[in-house]
Amino acid sequence: MDIAELSAKYPIIKDLQAEKEILWINPDYGKDEPLPLSKEDLFDASARFERFAPYMAAAFPETAATDGILESPVLPLDKMKAHVTARENYDLPGNLYLKADNELPISGSIKSRGGIYEVLKIAETVAMKHGMLVYGDDYAQLNNDKFHDLFSHYGIAVGSTGNLGLSIGIVAAKLGFNTTVHMSMDAKQWKKDTLRSKGVNVVEYDGSFTKAITAGRALAAKDPSVFFIDDEGSTDLFLGYGVAAIRLQKQLKDMDIPVDEDHPLFVYLPAGVGGSPGGTTFGLKQIFGDNVHAIFAEPTHVPSVVLGMATGMNEKISVYDIGLDGLTEADGLAVGRPSRLAGRVMKTLLMGIGTFKDDRIMAYTAEMMDEENIKLEPSATAGFAALRQAQPYLTEHFPMANATHIVWATGGMLVPEYEHERNYEIGEKLLKK
Ligand SMILES: *Cc1c(COP(=O)(O)O)cnc(C)c1O
Repeated sequence: MDIAELSAKYPIIKDLQAEKEILWINPDYGKDEPLPLSKEDLFDASARFERFAPYMAAAFPETAATDGILESPVLPLDKMKAHVTARENYDLPGNLYLKADNELPISGSIKSRGGIYEVLKIAETVAMKHGMLVYGDDYAQLNNDKFHDLFSHYGIAVGSTGNLGLSIGIVAAKLGFNTTVHMSMDAKQWKKDTLRSKGVNVVEYDGSFTKAITAGRALAAKDPSVFFIDDEGSTDLFLGYGVAAIRLQKQLKDMDIPVDEDHPLFVYLPAGVGGSPGGTTFGLKQIFGDNVHAIFAEPTHVPSVVLGMATGMNEKISVYDIGLDGLTEADGLAVGRPSRLAGRVMKTLLMGIGTFKDDRIMAYTAEMMDEENIKLEPSATAGFAALRQAQPYLTEHFPMANATHIVWATGGMLVPEYEHERNYEIGEKLLKK
C-alpha cells in the first residue's frame, strides 16, 4: 500500500501521523444501508443470557444477587461534570452519567458481556450436540461433573490484551473447557496471574496484540476440538456486547430519563479493535434509533478504528502502516488493527471518533477517584476525552438543553490496589499542573 497516495486522498492520515487530537465525523452516518446483523439477533443473544442465568448464579455466587444476570449500574456524575468541565474549560449542556461496567461481575470490565456470551453459546452448542441439554432445561445443571467431563474434551482459545482473556478464561475454565489465553506484551502481569490461578493456560508473546491473536488463531486451527474466539471478527462477541442496550433502556426508564427527539442520548465509548464499542453501539441503535448517537475514543498512538473507517480500508490497514508505535497507557486499547466486523457494521451507525493523548486519561482516572470515589482503569476513562472533543460539534447540530451524556466506563474492578495507586499518582501530578 502506498501511504503517500493514501494520505493525499485522506488528509486525516497526516493528522494521525502527527499524533494530533482529532474529532472525525463519519460522512456515512445515518445513511440507509443493509446491516449484517438484525434486532432479532440481538434479542436472541439476550434470551441466551437469560437461559444461562441459573447457571451463572450457581457457578458464580457474586451474580446470585441479580439472579445470574450480569449488569452494571448507571450513575450520576454531577461532581465530575462540574470539575472536569471547569478544568478542561468547556460547556456541557445536559446531564452526565457513567455506565459503570467497571463493576460488571467476573472480569470487572465490559468484556464480561461479549466474552462470556460467546463462551456460553459454545457450551450450549456442544451440550445440545451431545443430546445432554434442551432449551427448556434448568441450565444450572451445567455446573456439575457430567458437563465438566463433556467440556473437558473441548478447548477454548482467545487472543487478548488482558480483559477479554480474563472474562473468557474464568468462565470457560469454570465450565470445564481446556482454556488457553494468548496474551500480548501489553497485558498486565496480574491479569496473567489471575488466569493461571484459575487453571487457564496463559501463553505470553513479546509482541503486539496482532501477533498474539494471529499465533493463537493458527494454533487453534490445527485442532478441530478447539473453539477460537476471534476478537478480530466474531459476531457473537459483538451481539453479547449489544445486549447492554436492552438493559440500558430499562435502567433509563426506571430513572425517569427520557430518550426522544428533544432528549437525545450521547454515548462515549473507548475503542480497541472496535468490538465492544461497536457491539454496544449496534445494540443502542436497534433500541433507541435516531435518538442515540455514539462517539468512540482512541489513543493518538493507536487510532486503529478511525484509520480503518476514514479510509474505508477497515482491517486492511494498521496504525503501524502509517508509522505509529501503537504504545499507550490504555492497555485495553492497545490494538493496532481494527476488527473485520466493527468498521463494517459501524459504517452508518457511528457518529464519530475522537483521539486523545494519554495524559488526559491518567488525569481523568485520578479525577474520578477524587470527585466520585470511583476507581477505573485508564482505558476505561477514555470516554471523557471524546465527551470534551465532541461538544462544539454537538452544540451546533443538536438540541442540547435536555441531552443525556453517558460515558461508558469499561473496566476497573479487578485492578489491584497498587496499580490504582500508581495511576492515581501519575494522574494527580497532571491535575496539579
Ligand atoms: C477491551 C477494552 C476496551 C475496548 O474494546 P474493543 O472491543 O477492543 O474495542 C475498552 N476498555 C477496556 C477496559 C477494555 O478492556
